[in-house]
Amino acid sequence: ACTQCKMESDLTEMKIGFIGAGNMAFGIAQGILMSGKVNPENVKVSAPSSNNLGRFQELGVAVTHSNSEVVTGSRLVFMAVKPHLVPTVLCEIAPLVTQQHVIVSVAAGITLATLEGLLPPDSVVMRLMPNLPCMVQEGALLFSRGSRARPEDGSLLRGLLTPCGLVEEGPETWIDAHTGLSGSGVAFVYLFAEALAEGGVKMGMPSALAHRIAAQTVLGAGRLLRDSGKHPAQLRSDVCTPGGTTIFGLHELERGGLRATTMGAVEAATERARELG
Ligand code: NAD
Repeated sequence: ACTQCKMESDLTEMKIGFIGAGNMAFGIAQGILMSGKVNPENVKVSAPSSNNLGRFQELGVAVTHSNSEVVTGSRLVFMAVKPHLVPTVLCEIAPLVTQQHVIVSVAAGITLATLEGLLPPDSVVMRLMPNLPCMVQEGALLFSRGSRARPEDGSLLRGLLTPCGLVEEGPETWIDAHTGLSGSGVAFVYLFAEALAEGGVKMGMPSALAHRIAAQTVLGAGRLLRDSGKHPAQLRSDVCTPGGTTIFGLHELERGGLRATTMGAVEAATERARELG
């Protein structure tokens, strides 16, 4: 219990920075502030233009155009610029990074080795791969610790990010698979949702209604899957009355190769993430 209390007080007092004020930074900032554990006055965000900073001000956090100011004023810094800008920004901030900092990069394809190579030799670095539903506190996030990041640094990050959704830790080699399964997987689910709705339209339902029902079906199926902890095959079999409607539909999906196609999609997206890395 004491470790938990200490971590909560660490979070309340911890200064947190974001370099880059895009969608991912916003999703994470919104999630961590929603928990109420982090004081918005302890959060600072930087970006070169004021365009994206307004919505952060609405969250009550401080904004600046200076990346240096974020680094000097924060203990934990999220690097949330586009991947091609990471080397430039790291070179800019490297002279200010100390052993007390924890640098967490969300940049797709930028490896821990690259991050560590561009920062001072004793820097504590972690790599985090979030996905879009962080924006509604239902993200799936996987992080990997760099060579100097201790298990406590991982626990701190996990404690901070839990309000954003599921937070898992794993070796860096899983980050690309997570990108394929979950980062891109969100879009695969949207395609499926769209197809469900179009099936409804084909069978005579109005489009707007079919889309509302499809969204709720995906949400409900997902929550039941997560909250029951059951294997999807078990839940699927629970819905299948012998000789009933669902097994007839499932037969069509199997005939169309949905399972193999989906596995292939995760594989293709993972390999693309590796190529970009
Ligand atoms: P974005 O374009 O929305 O945001 C990038 C931000 O960086 C902008 O606010 C921009 O003003 C700012 N910026 C540009 N140059 C800068 C500089 N020199 N210093 C400081 N800030 C600077 O991008 P995004 O979608 O939020 O992606 C950010 C990172 O998150 C990327 O590296 C991406 O790989 C990663 N990521 C995104 C997603 C996603 O679903 N969007 C998922 C996983 C990882």
